[in-house]
Amino acid sequence: MKDYYLQHQTRVKHLSKVYYERNRTRISQVRKEIYLKLRKEVLEMLGNKCAHCQEAETSILHIDHKYGDGYSERRIFGSLFRLRKVKEQSSLYQLLCPNCNWKKRHAKNEIKNPPSKNCIQLREEILGLLGNHCEKCSNSQKECWHIHHLEGRGTQDRKQSRTQEAYYLKVLTSIKTQEKKYSLLCANCHEKERLRLQC
Ligand SMILES: [Zn+2]
Ligand SMILES: [Zn+2]
Repeated sequence: MKDYYLQHQTRVKHLSKVYYERNRTRISQVRKEIYLKLRKEVLEMLGNKCAHCQEAETSILHIDHKYGDGYSERRIFGSLFRLRKVKEQSSLYQLLCPNCNWKKRHAKNEIKNPPSKNCIQLREEILGLLGNHCEKCSNSQKECWHIHHLEGRGTQDRKQSRTQEAYYLKVLTSIKTQEKKYSLLCANCHEKERLRLQC
């Protein structure tokens, strides 16, 4: 089999590519089903709720490496491979809701690309204008807050701004001109809202 593959490598690769292109939708659907089934099993193994605050909305829970750098692990491994790894070594992992995950990141100083002084000031001004608490659940822990685009275009919004400072300036101008495009949500409410907008 291996010899056959080596002799016909180009043709086999071409046929695989053609097969993938023709069945792309079905293949992604099957991959998604496998992913969701495995994620459900892993979540059950880990208790189906946040290890810190008991949040039980499973759709928003993160699988957190208790001792390691989950960010690097997610970059290195594909989602299915990582889930299989968690299943095999479940004692190394725990479930955290987005709020508790943000609190852990701040406590351990794991924030990627820390903001500049200017950005910190702009963000402070934005948070103040948006009420300094989560609009949905009144969470008042600053490290959990996210600026939410009311039409679910936050990612696009950030990508269109060349720098973080440009993004904050855009948000600030929008708030000051009463466009009513943004609100303040904690990470848990933000994730629930993001999933709702996807439906
Ligand atoms: Zn939690
Ligand atoms: Zn909230």
